[in-house]
Amino acid sequence: MPHIQQLSSHVADLIAAGEVVERPASVVKELVENAIDAGASAIVVEIQRGGMGLIRVTDNGCGIAPEELPTAFLRHATSKLRTAEDLAKIGTLGFRGEALAAISAVSRVDVLTRRPEDAVGAAIHGEGGHMEPVREEGAPEGTTIRVSDLFYNTPARLKFMKKDSAETAAVAGLMQHLALSHPDVSFKFIKDGQESLHTPGDGKLESAVYAALGREFAKTLVPVQGRGGDIEVRGFVTAPVNGRGSRSMQVFFVNGRFIKSQLLTAALEEGYRNQLLKGRFPGCVLEVLLPVTAVDVNVHPAKTQVKFAKEHDVFDAVFHTVMDALDARGGAVTKPAPPPVRETQNPRQDFFQSMNAKAYREQGTKPAVAPTIVKSPAPAQPPKAAQPAFRPQPVSPAAPVKPSWNTEWRSTAKVTDSVQP
Ligand code: ADP
Ligand code: MG
Repeated sequence: MPHIQQLSSHVADLIAAGEVVERPASVVKELVENAIDAGASAIVVEIQRGGMGLIRVTDNGCGIAPEELPTAFLRHATSKLRTAEDLAKIGTLGFRGEALAAISAVSRVDVLTRRPEDAVGAAIHGEGGHMEPVREEGAPEGTTIRVSDLFYNTPARLKFMKKDSAETAAVAGLMQHLALSHPDVSFKFIKDGQESLHTPGDGKLESAVYAALGREFAKTLVPVQGRGGDIEVRGFVTAPVNGRGSRSMQVFFVNGRFIKSQLLTAALEEGYRNQLLKGRFPGCVLEVLLPVTAVDVNVHPAKTQVKFAKEHDVFDAVFHTVMDALDARGGAVTKPAPPPVRETQNPRQDFFQSMNAKAYREQGTKPAVAPTIVKSPAPAQPPKAAQPAFRPQPVSPAAPVKPSWNTEWRSTAKVTDSVQP
């Protein structure tokens, strides 16, 4: 066996970066999450060659102080978390202080930023994690981050990249999810010079669904809204007759964070019970809002999973909300009698055989909390998407940003606030 040695910080950084930055879509996700956390009301994402050539994210958020710009690229450097106690109540999408460090470790990065209170902006350039000194530069309010030559210094990772078209598709899918998760933000996505997504940012989930997923899908949707204790569930689900061939159109958000969750999938599908044909799956855009202390977001490096403190309650809130909305619609072929509450504790054992929540379901000792369901409004009047309480307020009513930049890497896209033109 070779001797045991501690790795150099350079190699350690590359390993850590590998967890956060798996492919171009991971870079886009982290940069857009930062823009949302910065209170942006308009975000433009541009990519070239699936993001392998170029990724540029422009926002009209709060900007970064010039003196803090180099710090932002250090590992574990964040403005969103201070103490261990804060970890139990995270209200921002980011908190690990790893993204900018990870991205800059495996690419060439340029940032141009200006806070509303600063007369002049600041710029920084870095390659492979080495950041150059900050320069003073004129800049519009907000931040533009440009990432090029992703993985140029990590040939092992480069080898695993799929075709540009596959990476483009991954970014496009991600952009849909991000746009749906924040209807109050106007998103624009430009791939290889072509605009492929533009949401109005009017705060209405239905507008975002329409813009991101298209009219045909939007037509199949039923609005749902319900509450169980301090858990609120709202959004849209497909009508039972519009069952889909896969689960690919099941989109879940928890406090504005797009996540994968077998628990939420199971609760959704349970809400349909026998209303779907065998082999068909519901689609949905469902948001679960709950106190930040009731959900642990620190369970996955890419922050795509969460752990609920009260899984039973979350399951029941989603299940009852969906079932109630479908029943109220009167669309059930044979409407099943409302189950005794306990029955919802052991639904569809076969499904749960394959999911981690099996144990949770099998406990069966705790009486289920039957949520008070707020009746869904008529389909013609979908629920209003309110501002989630956890969202940082935009720093100022963003005035249209007039980019006055001229260097090659800067965005040609205008970041305009379509809410207040
Ligand atoms: P995290 O988001 O977990 O805090 P990051 O490495 O993604 O860590 O970012 C580090 C810090 O840089 C953030 O905490 C934030 O203060 C700042 N930052 C990054 N992107 C932006 C942005 N687009 N606008 C304003 N501040 C930003
Ligand atoms: Mg971040």
